Amino acid sequence: MYWEPDKECMDREELEQLHIERLQSTLTRVYAHVPFYRKKFDQMGITPEDIGSLSDLSRLPFTTKDDVRGNYPYGLFAVPLREVVRIHASSGTTETAAVVGYTRNDIKMWSNLMARVLTAGGVTKDDVVQVAFGYGLFTGGFGLHYGAERIGASVIPASAGNTARQIKIMKDFKTTALVCTPSYAALVAGTVREMGIPVSALSLKYGLFGGEPWSEGMRQEIQDSLGIVATDNYGLTEVLGPGVSGECLERNGLHISEDHFLVEVIDPETLLPVPPGRKGELVITTLTKEAFPMIRYRTRDLTRLLPEPCPCGRTGRRMSRVAGRTDDMLIIKGVKFFPSQVESLIFEIEGTGPNYQIVIDRKGAMDHATVLVEAAEAISFDQERRQSGTLAETIRKRLAHELGFSVDVKLVEKQALERSGEKGKRVVDNRKF
Ligand SMILES: [Zn+2]
Repeated sequence: MYWEPDKECMDREELEQLHIERLQSTLTRVYAHVPFYRKKFDQMGITPEDIGSLSDLSRLPFTTKDDVRGNYPYGLFAVPLREVVRIHASSGTTETAAVVGYTRNDIKMWSNLMARVLTAGGVTKDDVVQVAFGYGLFTGGFGLHYGAERIGASVIPASAGNTARQIKIMKDFKTTALVCTPSYAALVAGTVREMGIPVSALSLKYGLFGGEPWSEGMRQEIQDSLGIVATDNYGLTEVLGPGVSGECLERNGLHISEDHFLVEVIDPETLLPVPPGRKGELVITTLTKEAFPMIRYRTRDLTRLLPEPCPCGRTGRRMSRVAGRTDDMLIIKGVKFFPSQVESLIFEIEGTGPNYQIVIDRKGAMDHATVLVEAAEAISFDQERRQSGTLAETIRKRLAHELGFSVDVKLVEKQALERSGEKGKRVVDNRKF
């Protein structure tokens, strides 16, 4: 089922024509209304008229997170504030947030794109959608809320936190679709089990999860324990919020709403496009945003474009689930890796829970990593000495094989690990740089 079949299944040639028209109008708009872009274009000696085809895209400057921060709060807005009807900001406690604005048209477009994602994930007007994303400056809550309302579903704005209450609402209000981060969904699944509630007492059918990288193993675990079909969706505050892309029920990658976003995948070091199908950093240019247009925004998210057509019939290209962020990349003993690699592996091993944490210390000049893994079930002291010892050893061996260096592994009680808000806290880096 589609929300906007004419757009989601658009002919590729027609789409390319739309791309160039919308790109030119976006460039004209930012050149006229955003001094930051005008200055950049002038310095590079280009005008919007010079970009006559999509192959000229690479001549345009990138926009980085630092550019957004440097123009805090309203420097990159392309419309006067009187035309802005909503303001959101990216999370981030240690850095200046990115502040973004939306016109009335932007909100309409956003709701439509969210409706596409929700429809692709199985949601219809007959569903009861529980939004367990925070409602606030963070784009997740309001983004999904408006999309679900647009479809005509019954929306429960549960907001984030208080898991026991979430589950009570879920049970009593007969929630059929759960919307939150994947790690929160895993926590909900664990708590449902702990409270002794059989899955048959819930009405859940679908889970739409996003906001952080997660693995296929985690998906399987959530689907099995809640008895749902779980899809992944993606977006980021700087280009819109959620709604940039989302999986259909095939669950084989996220369809990008290419009529609204122009995507590139680049090598984060050379900044050149990677060969088709190869992994790299996702770069997004918005094509229809009025208040906060973005030219070649470097998302720092690592993904690859999947060129093969999807059996669902949507023609929007798919991106693979985000494998991590370039700034989440860890370098230990000179080896580069992502927390998601650790996660995939942990999920393949029987007896582990959904939560884990990588703690990095420096002993002398040497980096040392300890991976804390929550056990699936409560561990008794006796068991700890025998079974969990064996389990930790299994994980340790598999990680050493996967990563190419040795780490310590410690099994901890379930739900013993610290979480930061809705998202799992995956890395604690105690090294001083
Ligand atoms: Zn599909």
